[in-house]
Amino acid sequence: MVVTRFAPSPTGYLHIGGLRTALFNYLWARKNSGKFILRIEDTDLSRNSEEATKAILKAFDWVGLEYDGDVAYQSKRFDIYKRYIQKLLDEGKAYYCYMTKEELDALREEQMAKKERPRYDRRYRDFTGTPPKDVKPVVRIKAPLEGEMVFEDGVKGTIAITAEELDDFIIARSDGTPTYNFVVAVDDALMGVTEVIRGDDHLYNTPKQILVYEALGFDIPKFYHVPMICNEQGKKLSKRDGALDVMAYKEMGFLPEALLNFLVRLGWSYGDQEIFSKEEMIELFDPKDINKSASSYNLDKLLWLNSHYIKNSSNERLSKLLEDFGIYLLGHDKREIILDAVKERAKTIKELAEQIKMILEDPREYDEKGVKKAIKGEWKDILKGFEKELQDAQELHLPSDYHKIMEKYLNEKNIGFGKLGQPLRLALVGKLTGPGLDEIMSIIGKEETVKRIEMLIKKFENG
Ligand code: GLU
Repeated sequence: MVVTRFAPSPTGYLHIGGLRTALFNYLWARKNSGKFILRIEDTDLSRNSEEATKAILKAFDWVGLEYDGDVAYQSKRFDIYKRYIQKLLDEGKAYYCYMTKEELDALREEQMAKKERPRYDRRYRDFTGTPPKDVKPVVRIKAPLEGEMVFEDGVKGTIAITAEELDDFIIARSDGTPTYNFVVAVDDALMGVTEVIRGDDHLYNTPKQILVYEALGFDIPKFYHVPMICNEQGKKLSKRDGALDVMAYKEMGFLPEALLNFLVRLGWSYGDQEIFSKEEMIELFDPKDINKSASSYNLDKLLWLNSHYIKNSSNERLSKLLEDFGIYLLGHDKREIILDAVKERAKTIKELAEQIKMILEDPREYDEKGVKKAIKGEWKDILKGFEKELQDAQELHLPSDYHKIMEKYLNEKNIGFGKLGQPLRLALVGKLTGPGLDEIMSIIGKEETVKRIEMLIKKFENG
């Protein structure tokens, strides 16, 4: 069975790079009807926070990546790690090292002076003497003394590390706590993980972890190290570029399916297809197709995808999402007209909310450029005439009713659409952009339309 995992360290929120890693693992597990594990790597008690764990779980919930079983917490597994450290000590595959910090520093300086790579000299590897009394030892694993460690990475190809480069690295600190590379390997093995898909910042941890697998006689999983996400200049993505908390995307008005669709294409592709439902992603994703080069973050593309998913969302769903942005349409009798009028244009739910507010509320101010363009010539008479036309009309409800009355008026007056359209639009929403005038008037109704026309006239009739 395919088993994958996402293993964040709770040192902060879940950012989009992490979410992409999670998504790849999730898709591969689901495609193979396997298991997707969420493991919180919280062994470094000084750097982890419960809040960060909560934030990660919340983000998972929002994007809808379901994991299998309970969340695994490394902080609850110290006994297990201890047992395996002891096993390696008992089997002579690991040993106590009593070197003090001062001794290590001195060794490092000596090596640097000789222009050698600073490294532990393995002085306790075969030590049989009496250990120093006041030193609490660390535990080191025995790395091979010669040859190469070679593994096949599913993205990077063959990775070979010489024995020279592999240290007898520490697996337990002097206070007995296990170290990062040790616990990752033990957990992946015990949890039955078959494929590890993670960021390529972990590529050179992998030989160390393989050492642990080998020493404990565990099966080694397949590794895929995914290149990072860059900004459009090819540099590491910064906060300014969009390397944000996943939940910040919710606050900006993105839909989770748009974000997932965006992320799946960062570093993976299927022909030139851009739009993927979750089901399609599951069907088509294969880690062997992960790109070798870094991918580049493009906000316009994310906005484009988001508007696609907004357009295709039901009005009921949009109404619920809009509540986070202060718009309550669930009981509104014009809900369908309102949403149909704005959902084609909005790139985010936030923008959708702004456009709806713009329709439902009186304009608070009039756009300067719009005023220059629309308040000229016969504008006032044209608006007054149209106002009268509205007053005389019966049964104005639908956008098409308003459309007809505008057309009738323009024909009678024999004027072009802009002559009425521009001042009317300014009166209704305070600027020259926005949804169709017929839709706006139908939503706010005749009385409110007349009121807004009067407001504009009052404000500008004296120049
Ligand atoms: N805990 C590691 C991190 O947050 C990931 C470890 C792994 O995926 O092997 O970067």
